[in-house]
Parts: sequence; structure tokens; C-alpha cells
Amino acid sequence: MPDCLLCAETGGALLWNSPLLRVIDACDPVYPGTTRVVLNRHVAEMTDLGEADQQSVMRATLCVERVMRDTLGPDKVNLAALGNMVAHLHWHVIPRWKDDPHFPQAIWAALPEATPGAPQAQRARRNATIAGVPRFHRALTDALERTMSGAAAG
Ligand SMILES: [Zn+2]
Repeated sequence: MPDCLLCAETGGALLWNSPLLRVIDACDPVYPGTTRVVLNRHVAEMTDLGEADQQSVMRATLCVERVMRDTLGPDKVNLAALGNMVAHLHWHVIPRWKDDPHFPQAIWAALPEATPGAPQAQRARRNATIAGVPRFHRALTDALERTMSGAAAG
């Protein structure tokens, strides 16, 4: 679709691709490890998809969540399909920690006032997460290959 960012561009660093969907590292500087599952065609809502494709999208999204939990060990995983800015179906899979800058708000909320010492702790957390991301990505591409093989494509 003209003027759609996710039709025109990958939207991040490509980790895995299939005819139906791609999985990308969002390269979020504040929330490293944030991953997106992006449909490879322009539809806005999950209910625009047939049931088999809906299941494949959820299988991939939950695979990202599973591997993220196993490798990065966040306190919580946020799954979100908003699409208000770019109405091209994509799921955000975001690792969250109780001491991250926005917790317990969504990462898109206004930044709350930082408590003393918080920025330093947040920097340490971010660096530890960055160190774990390569292992997360290796495990994720392996898991997607296993999980999505034989799944309906397109
Ligand atoms: Zn699009």
C-alpha cells in the first residue's frame, strides 16, 4: 500500500522470514530485545486474516515470547498489536522489567519522573539485556525454524 512504512521497508533488522510474515529486531535503544512480528502483506487487523494465517501469526508471536522468556528472563512480556500509527498488522513483543524506565506503564507512555538511582540501575539493566540479545536471536531463529516448519505459509 502506498505510504505504508511496513510495506516499503523491513522495519528493523530481519531475523526470520517466510511468505506470510517476518520477525525483526526493532533495534529499540531503550528496550533492547524488542521484537516485532510483521505480516508480509498489508492488512490492518487479525480478523482480516483467514484462520490458518491467524494461527501462524500467533504461533510465531508466542514463539518469540517463549524464547525471550527463556533467554532474557524479563519480569514480564508485553504483547501489543496497536497499529494506530502504521495500520499494517504487526505484533510487538517487548521484554519488561520492574525497574525499567516506564514500568508499569506501556513503553509508549510519557516517561514517569525517575527516582534517585533509577537511571543508573536502568543503564545496568539495559547493558545486561544487550549482552543477552545475540543468544536470544540465535535461539529465536532456531525455534522459529522448528515451530513454523509445516505451518501454513501465506
Ligand atoms: Zn503496509
